[in-house]
Amino acid sequence: MIAVLFGPPGSGKGTQAARVSARIGIPHIATGDILRDEVARGTALGLEAGPIMRRGMLVSDDLVVRVIEARLLQPDAARGALLDGFPRTVAQAEALDAMLARRGRGVDVLVALDVPDRVLKERVLKRAQLEGRPDDTPEALELRLATYRAETEPVLGHYGAPGTRVERIDGVGSIDAVTERITAALARGHEQAQAS
Ligand code: AMP
Repeated sequence: MIAVLFGPPGSGKGTQAARVSARIGIPHIATGDILRDEVARGTALGLEAGPIMRRGMLVSDDLVVRVIEARLLQPDAARGALLDGFPRTVAQAEALDAMLARRGRGVDVLVALDVPDRVLKERVLKRAQLEGRPDDTPEALELRLATYRAETEPVLGHYGAPGTRVERIDGVGSIDAVTERITAALARGHEQAQAS
């Protein structure tokens, strides 16, 4: 199953994707984690992406599509993937669809977490104290939220067309409760994908 966990910064995608992927046995692929690792290792890609990430802006579609294409070719992704933080623009969604179509596949289900802005800001500022991510400052967060609304939300419309099941769920609640909702939404989407 190819699944996308979708939602704004601070919606809990990373935490939830790690839990859900362990449960359902498909790898969790987070472009943000891959890019942070490249930055930490000081690779050419990391040197290019790091300053853009610190400001809370999106790295280029081209760069991130190359990253995801390489990751999806690794053997563990043969049985599927739970994507987190990708696709973040309609152009990335189109590139993903094209690379999956070459293997006779497509995105089976997209689960979108709904979380109000007020809760997102509280969560991200708390994460800033715990993890010290350089893009969790109030300024970078405002930019990331604005970018999400302008560039990323339209991806939902892209997958609104027949072929992919879009499941919107409430992302507010205990971590366990949200994990249950996501797991149930993925199961519904998977069933639908098998049936079609
Ligand atoms: P995240 O951990 O998903 O919040 O990603 C952290 C940062 O990495 C983002 O603010 C972007 O700068 C960059 N990034 C991660 N995924 C993408 C993507 N799909 N497209 C563009 N930039 C990305």
